[in-house]
Amino acid sequence: MQISQQQLDLVNDRIRALVEAGSFYGKKLAEAGITHVETPEDFTKLPFSEKKDLRDAYPLGLMTAPEEEIVRIHSSSGTTGTPVIIPYTAKDVDDWAIMFKRCYETAGITNMDRIQITPGYGLWTAGIGFQNGAEKLGAMVIPMGPGNTDKQLQMMQDMKSTVLCSTSSYALLLAEEIEKRGIKDNIHLKKGVIGSERWSDKMRKHISESLGIELYDIYGLTEIYGPGIGINCEYNEGMHYWDDYLYIEVIDPKTGEPVPDGEMGEIVITTLVKEGAPLIRYRTHDLSRIIPGKCKCGRCYPRLDTIMGRTDDMMKIKGVNVFPSQIEEVLANFSEINSEYQIRISHLDGKDTMRIYVESTGDVDFDALSKRIAEKVKSRIGFTPIVKVVEVGVLPRSMKKTARVIDERFD
Ligand code: ZN
Repeated sequence: MQISQQQLDLVNDRIRALVEAGSFYGKKLAEAGITHVETPEDFTKLPFSEKKDLRDAYPLGLMTAPEEEIVRIHSSSGTTGTPVIIPYTAKDVDDWAIMFKRCYETAGITNMDRIQITPGYGLWTAGIGFQNGAEKLGAMVIPMGPGNTDKQLQMMQDMKSTVLCSTSSYALLLAEEIEKRGIKDNIHLKKGVIGSERWSDKMRKHISESLGIELYDIYGLTEIYGPGIGINCEYNEGMHYWDDYLYIEVIDPKTGEPVPDGEMGEIVITTLVKEGAPLIRYRTHDLSRIIPGKCKCGRCYPRLDTIMGRTDDMMKIKGVNVFPSQIEEVLANFSEINSEYQIRISHLDGKDTMRIYVESTGDVDFDALSKRIAEKVKSRIGFTPIVKVVEVGVLPRSMKKTARVIDERFD
């Protein structure tokens, strides 16, 4: 989706602010001699920003507004090394709440809802993001934070919570506890707003059915406000995102070139009005695609498909970008096989070959099944793999998803 003139004007405002403040990116832009962009083509020549840059700017190198205007910082979970610190102005905090309010509204949540918030509060953007948006909406917030399942379920019943905000794994845990304790009749939940984890359709269905609620996927990352920058609507065909606050591109993660709408690639985000720490062309390493065309709901906000994984998972086979999650989704539709699989990519006689191994019990016709699977995979990724069905228990078990893909081309 090409950047609009209005969005370009906002980008130029942000470039000016960055350069004037002499913050981390301001210096980078100044060194590269960039003061403004004229056309969409100019925009695509702007350098990307990366998580590593953000770490290098620790602690407050990203701060682009004057200190007296900064009201808060958040930090992304530093599982490896230095954390990232993102400063927010009062306007940033308010803009984020407006976006989050839109998310709730898109999910059909109103000021008559009672919203139980279970993600964590603190340096994280999670809990407080859910809370600010809900208050902006005028709903009643029950700010639980994570854990303490007894208290969580007690409040859920006594307060008659109608909306659960949580991670998919915690929603699953609560659903199982409710079932185990036989208290489903005392639960008033109607909707779940589930934040930022990749989860399978199977798990979604399980949570939705056992709690009897509709589920909504909310997208976001700490570097770009936090959760609340996009959510699916009632038609559940991708997540609408707020293009008056953000410009989103999808690029080929290998070449950095933009891919056409509809094609899978890496999400790159530019903040259009952020003051505390504006980001230009920030590489998220999240994989998805822009869904072309208008949504059935009539909203004019563009859509991103569900996050399909991380760029590190990508494989290039026969010149096509393939992601394990695409294969996994196809396989999940076959009840004859279990969830174990292995993908082997090799290079024979000048050609790339992909072999997919799956497991099934002995009472199905292996040849017929592998043909059917190969056809379905082809319709998804564009070329035919070799599918081999093996007896249950043959494939190595591994907790790590990456171990399921073996690329023998570079051995
Ligand atoms: Zn829609």
